[in-house]
Amino acid sequence: MNCTIKKNLLSEGKTKKIYTTNNPFEVLIHHTDNITALNGLKKNILQNKGVLNNEITALIFQFLNSCGIKTHFIQKINNREQLCHKVDMIALEFVVRNIVAGSMSKRLGVKEGVHLYNPIFEIFYKNDKLKDPLINDHHAVFLEILSYEELRIIYSMTSKINHFIKKYFLDKNIILVDFKIEFGKNYKNEILLSDEISPDTCRFWDKETMKKLDKDSFRMGSKEKVFDIYMDILKRLNVS
Ligand code: UDP
Repeated sequence: MNCTIKKNLLSEGKTKKIYTTNNPFEVLIHHTDNITALNGLKKNILQNKGVLNNEITALIFQFLNSCGIKTHFIQKINNREQLCHKVDMIALEFVVRNIVAGSMSKRLGVKEGVHLYNPIFEIFYKNDKLKDPLINDHHAVFLEILSYEELRIIYSMTSKINHFIKKYFLDKNIILVDFKIEFGKNYKNEILLSDEISPDTCRFWDKETMKKLDKDSFRMGSKEKVFDIYMDILKRLNVS
């Protein structure tokens, strides 16, 4: 039986609210209907997007837990909320690229769609004032965000996560082009995959048609189709 009691708002991000619970080591994560892109420059509300993302993230984190990846996810509580281990978030975003797209395509002048034989990992420093700059390992250590050993652990987890979810999505006819993940540390100082994995944080292309199945249509100016696209992803994930 689940006897979680939702208490106080602990923090609020662009798309999620975090609440304390009666257990000091657990939090409730509430998915709102906010949709943002381009570092929060583009914002909107998309009715029931939070319901879809809560469900999609829960399915992916359940899968990763079953693969032996340490994550913050405990269980889905209701259609917008999930119970998670409380962590201190690490101020970095880890981006994994299997195919060139988005900012990498622009930054390096490489055509979107080029397959990367070796997936490329990038680190972005989470700092709104600085607009989340791309940094490297040495910068992260210099900024005292992580040690080299902790970075090694995160890269090893990231590589496994990519391996597992790439196959998980491909089985559902979805190509995982790139994605962003975040990590946190629990009270034992263990590193856990945290935050979310959803069409907000991944680029998905349909395997047959190469149609974009993520928030790229929102980035490009339309929110109309985004709900239908997220619904399509959820339907595919629910087919075993
Ligand atoms: N991403 C994200 N949050 C961010 C920035 C990027 O979830 O604040 C994801 C994005 O959805 C994509 C991947 O990370 O799947 C790589 O994004 P990119 O660097 O190409 O930047 P974008 O095109 O999102 O500006």
